[in-house]
Amino acid sequence: MPCQVVILCGGMGSRLGNLTKSTPKPLLDIGGQTFLDFLMKDLCRFGFSSILLLAGYEGNKIYDRFHNKKILGVPIEVQVCAHQNGTGGDLLDHLNILDDDFLIVNGDSWVDTNYLNFYQFVLRQKRAEVCEGSILLKSDPEYRRYGAVQVEGLKVKAFLEKVDLKPQLDTNLINTGIYYFSKKLLLTYRRSSEKVSLERDMIPYFVEREEIGYQVLPNETFFIDIGIPETFRYACAFLNKHSTRPAIFFDRDNTLVFDSGYNHDASNIQWVPGAKHLIKALNDAGCYVFIITNQGGVAKGFYTEATVDIFHETMQRQLQMIGAHIDEFKYCVHHQDINLDGKKVDCCRRKPNPGMLTEIINDWPINAKKSLVIGDKHTDVLAGKCIGLTGLLINNSSRSLFEHVLEICGELNVFK
Ligand SMILES: [Mg+2]
Ligand SMILES: [Zn+2]
Repeated sequence: MPCQVVILCGGMGSRLGNLTKSTPKPLLDIGGQTFLDFLMKDLCRFGFSSILLLAGYEGNKIYDRFHNKKILGVPIEVQVCAHQNGTGGDLLDHLNILDDDFLIVNGDSWVDTNYLNFYQFVLRQKRAEVCEGSILLKSDPEYRRYGAVQVEGLKVKAFLEKVDLKPQLDTNLINTGIYYFSKKLLLTYRRSSEKVSLERDMIPYFVEREEIGYQVLPNETFFIDIGIPETFRYACAFLNKHSTRPAIFFDRDNTLVFDSGYNHDASNIQWVPGAKHLIKALNDAGCYVFIITNQGGVAKGFYTEATVDIFHETMQRQLQMIGAHIDEFKYCVHHQDINLDGKKVDCCRRKPNPGMLTEIINDWPINAKKSLVIGDKHTDVLAGKCIGLTGLLINNSSRSLFEHVLEICGELNVFK
């Protein structure tokens, strides 16, 4: 947990004219990076297990750029689909490399959401045996460009792609193009031709059989696709701004998890009360949440980097159980008292030095004025202070971490 993500990147992008003459739409540059780089980093921060890109038009360019690469530790596989079998056909043609359950997103649109909330939702639907597939919806009064969706009870009742017969539907719910399927469900699709469209053939087929549930995003959720010149230009101008967020940098030991000295046993992680729900509240509020931790125990030979990685993967899995995540973990393995290669290492990354913080600030679009460094030691706060970040020294004895941090976030106007 959580699952594989399949990104559909096959389209011709013909509505963008010359822009996509020799470049697949997901590889268009939107203000300094390709749209696909932007989209995948946004997905990978939630800790999905792997990404499968199903490419088509000019697919070799996507293959060359991403195949066998990793983003934030998440492995990426690219399949170039040469048969023009449509989005549904591409899925069916790759059953052998799909996991038991997977999220599907479009390679030309972005929804600013906590995907783990949708994932939690679909798992509940599955456990309750409601259905094996779900769609993420959003209300939008100007829905005509998108698929319109009518719901009843727990299920999608009607699904109409693009213009079709939409005036007949009494709904303002649109399809965001984000789906969850189990492979089990996909296997029940009766394929009547080689070419299968996910939106025109496959989903209506499942909807008719009452197999599709849904979750509706809050009205204000930001959603964009780059399919037409107007929205593409908008994305170029504003996507960076929309993804710029406050960041909360947590120390790890005795801030989020208890530590009795050189904490490294992943089978015995003791969270500070309220810490996991605090992280979820920050995720849902649209903040980035990072962990920066000194792990001098590696320099001292008490444990290895692999041990630290497993500890962090375990923390991430435990957070995902409640729909929370850490965007990135950073740690420094050095210790100023330990000789490496015959000299003492005073690493610029070890707190109170700010190296780990500056790495993150260079890699992510962060609103530094609204950001906060939180730790149980003066060295944690000092690391932030020397690059101008607000620090919060927590004192576990006085009041809960949760209340304390939320209060400071309120003062910094973190929650807009
Ligand atoms: Mg600490
Ligand atoms: Zn270091």
